[in-house]
Amino acid sequence: MDPASRVLVGDLLIENDRIAAVGDVTAPLAKLRGGKADQAIDASGALVMPGFVHGHLHLCQTLFRGLAEQGDLLHWLRDRIWPLEAAHSEASIAASARLGLCELIAGGVTCINDMGTVRHTETIGAQLEASGIRAVFGKALMDQGDGVPPALIESPKRALDDALALAGRFDGAAAGRLRVALAPRFILSCSEGLWRDVADAAAERGLVVHTHLAESPSEGREVSAAVGTSAARYFAAHGVLGPRFVGAHGVWLDDEELRAIAGADAALVHCPASNLKLGSGLADVRAWMDARIRCGLGSDGAACSNRLDTFHEMSLAGLVSRVRPAVPGAGAAAPPLTARAIVALATCEGARALGLGDAIGSLEAGKQADVIVVDARRPHCGPDPEHDPYTTLVHASRAGDVVMTMVAGRMLQHDGAWTTLDPGRAVADARAEARGVLRRAGLA
Ligand SMILES: [Zn+2]
Repeated sequence: MDPASRVLVGDLLIENDRIAAVGDVTAPLAKLRGGKADQAIDASGALVMPGFVHGHLHLCQTLFRGLAEQGDLLHWLRDRIWPLEAAHSEASIAASARLGLCELIAGGVTCINDMGTVRHTETIGAQLEASGIRAVFGKALMDQGDGVPPALIESPKRALDDALALAGRFDGAAAGRLRVALAPRFILSCSEGLWRDVADAAAERGLVVHTHLAESPSEGREVSAAVGTSAARYFAAHGVLGPRFVGAHGVWLDDEELRAIAGADAALVHCPASNLKLGSGLADVRAWMDARIRCGLGSDGAACSNRLDTFHEMSLAGLVSRVRPAVPGAGAAAPPLTARAIVALATCEGARALGLGDAIGSLEAGKQADVIVVDARRPHCGPDPEHDPYTTLVHASRAGDVVMTMVAGRMLQHDGAWTTLDPGRAVADARAEARGVLRRAGLA
């Protein structure tokens, strides 16, 4: 995934937390270690690639997988998700994060962008730190909204003070693996004053602003009734749209909004499984790319996509881009996304969307050693996975094919052996804690 799109048969040399050489590593290895590595991994027959960058996630919702299966976005939030989030304890949120992190790391995700929830976000930060994953994460900011339980509503000052305290503790922590974002949830849950404070604080401290926009038609109607315009136009008018802005979904954006987003150098994240499952619509990612908007790929939370699985999202991104021109009301027919462009969304372009393009997203000397090994010798990848490795990854490979996940030179799992997390225990803890959350939410 380097700028020349090279696909090499060769070796990868890693020293400490960085990639030291790619391809023929004989000379640099001789210089570094007298020709002998401390540890060698045989990846013959596998695709060795940059770890996936997951652009939009709610780790707090992993416990709610399968518990919110009806309704469009706003009903889903008001009837199920917000009451469940309000019922989280520190223990349940930790269990939710660990369960999600096991799934993500097993499936080759090495960097996430997590929206968090209103309370206990520092517990998510502690789990991220312990897991070894790279993350941008925030505390969801909510100071208003129809159908929001009181436990999720804070004063704007309290919300922002807490978020900045989180940044003070975690931004740049774990040798730079963790970054903190400001995460105003979406237009309907934040007052005008809060949006202005977020814009000021983000500019002052250089923090990412992570939010949702233009996700579903009913949300668009409520936004328009509440603020008299669309989310993208509102963000542009309030100084929220800028190079540190990362907006999830963007399903319903017109050409003028795309130009405003591109002009502000803001980023968008495509979440096709969530958009399909909530019936929100099909984002026109080709139009985003044509407008030269930085963009990435995410799965949203497990409560709406049911899988935290980049392979699933990549395949859907490809399939959706093929049918989109046939959708009534969609714009002019555009060519579908190529498999290479989709792998880029999940790696180098996703990294650029989060402002991390210089550090991660490709296998290049000097970049962080965030690397995965995908076994391509399995029957569903045959007969010739190397013929077009991008198509293999997007349309044939599965999360279970990832045999090694490394972040900053540290192996987090290899051939089923885990160094920081215990998936068996994570599943057992999550099962117990999910029952508690349902009971406290009155939804058991
Ligand atoms: Zn979301």
